[in-house]
Amino acid sequence: MVRIVPLACLAVAALAAHAQPAAPLRLADTWPLPEHELPYAGAAPATHRLQLDLVAFVDTTWKPEAIVTAVRAAGALLAQCGIRLERAELYRFEGGDPGYRYLWTPVSRELVRRVRPAKPALFFVRDSRHVPTFDAEAFGTGNSATRPELAFTVWVTAYIRDLPVALAHELAHVLMDSGAHSVEPGNLMRDRTAPENATLAPAQCARMVEAGERNGLLQREPAR
Ligand SMILES: [Zn+2]
Repeated sequence: MVRIVPLACLAVAALAAHAQPAAPLRLADTWPLPEHELPYAGAAPATHRLQLDLVAFVDTTWKPEAIVTAVRAAGALLAQCGIRLERAELYRFEGGDPGYRYLWTPVSRELVRRVRPAKPALFFVRDSRHVPTFDAEAFGTGNSATRPELAFTVWVTAYIRDLPVALAHELAHVLMDSGAHSVEPGNLMRDRTAPENATLAPAQCARMVEAGERNGLLQREPAR
């Protein structure tokens, strides 16, 4: 049997839904990763320090424990370049435009303007509305000229695999300010991320600390 819903009812329902104002964007909680929870594991003494701002929304599948655990592991991978993850903090938001939970240039620019994270910043979103769609996307100066807010940000969707390696890979793109990939076996910058692809070559490390420092993303450790 076909149910015919009176048109007037539909119109009222639509109006009611429309009249519901979106809850304002607000910070729900923060998950700090202080220095004592970030042991430096590099073979050589650290030459540069990195701080990360992390952004997520409470009403997504992203679990804060999973994010901070993966960020800690990603930091350990960057230690092979003498980079020490000094501090990271996850800021979880609620409310605001439902579109903030997706990577999509016009809306994501607005989110970055409103949240004002320190760079580099990692955003943990549900999905990307960009075509082609990537499980994660990193922005340097080369792909952010028309969207400057996105410079030095990484957007990670819920479809990402091998999260710690993927985070280190995307962060390396941002720090090197390069979208280049490597064909070296086992290299972190192979275009396909996998747990066994985790090493960085000396030239990649050199580029990372040079560009990272020049772009204000890395701070040089005081000489000892
Ligand atoms: Zn890549």
